[in-house]
Amino acid sequence: MVFDLNKCLGCQACTMACKTIWTDRNQGQMYQYWNNVETRPGRGYPKNWETLGGGFSGGKVDLGEVHVGVFPKITEDYGAPWQYNYDEVLKTDGGDATASLLGPSPEPDGPGAYANNWDEDVGDGDNPGNNYYFYLPRICNHCTNPACVAACPRQAVYKREEDGIVLVDQNRCRGYRYCVRGCPYKKVYFNTQEKLSEKCIFCYPRLEQNEQNFCFTQCVGRIRYVGYDTNPQANVNKLVDDWRVAMLLFPEFGTEPNLYYIPPMSPPGSNGQERIPIDYLAYLFGDNKDQKRRARIARIEEIFNILETERAKVAAGGASELIDILVAKSEADRLQLDLG
Ligand code: SF4
Ligand code: SF4
Repeated sequence: MVFDLNKCLGCQACTMACKTIWTDRNQGQMYQYWNNVETRPGRGYPKNWETLGGGFSGGKVDLGEVHVGVFPKITEDYGAPWQYNYDEVLKTDGGDATASLLGPSPEPDGPGAYANNWDEDVGDGDNPGNNYYFYLPRICNHCTNPACVAACPRQAVYKREEDGIVLVDQNRCRGYRYCVRGCPYKKVYFNTQEKLSEKCIFCYPRLEQNEQNFCFTQCVGRIRYVGYDTNPQANVNKLVDDWRVAMLLFPEFGTEPNLYYIPPMSPPGSNGQERIPIDYLAYLFGDNKDQKRRARIARIEEIFNILETERAKVAAGGASELIDILVAKSEADRLQLDLG
């Protein structure tokens, strides 16, 4: 998979697509967002997930020190649904637009209050002139070296041989939550009612009926590309291997994710510098687990140069395979799983 972060609108159509068909069925799934779109810089979902442990350390699964034995604490780590005070503010809801500012009202409230997209669009940087944010859509990476699989003492989590999809066998799962702690991306969710672990199933029932993944087909920004790595003609492989414009999210976790991101470019701020600090992008993205920060920065600069060069070619009336792929005029340019 490749997600082009230059095109994500933060519309959450992907999130709601997944919620509608998979996690709106059973009790205990309300807080589960197998697909979530978080604002960066921001704390993500669950809160500060990249600091909660997981992945591999010294060849072994790192189960993390946070909330050992009780992870996840649903309210503390994921928060609860929240509302805006529309009725106070919006005339359409009977309010007075001058009455007060729109603000979130979490339930339960308090200093530790948090929820999915709590820090939506807050961003970072000096205001005015140099502030920024961007969207980071996330799903399970269906890793080549999945820590969730390695962490499970019951062999309940497994990777399908035919297509690499990582699944939880609900009949074998006993709800120990080692997979939740072992996944560094925190993309396994514990169903508090069923007492079982659940995660993105890569829409395998759809694939088996010749339908592409729902969050991919519903993506309004057309940012999502999918294909098998065995097909060199698939655009995912052209973006990753030929054009080399896509990188991995936190590859240092050691799970060998199969979701790549094209890092977001930004116009200069009023200080003449890149608006999104490249150091922050290099914190998020790398090519492999051993790559140092300086090499990551050099790679991101290289990617931006490639994108700018190819854009300039097209602007001057020329042709560019890369820009054609990124524009993705038809669904067939993006959704290339050979389901036959
Ligand atoms: Fe497992 Fe998915 Fe987490 Fe990778 S991202 S470790 S496959 S749950
Ligand atoms: Fe971004 Fe596409 Fe999801 Fe909209 S549907 S938030 S554009 S990934």
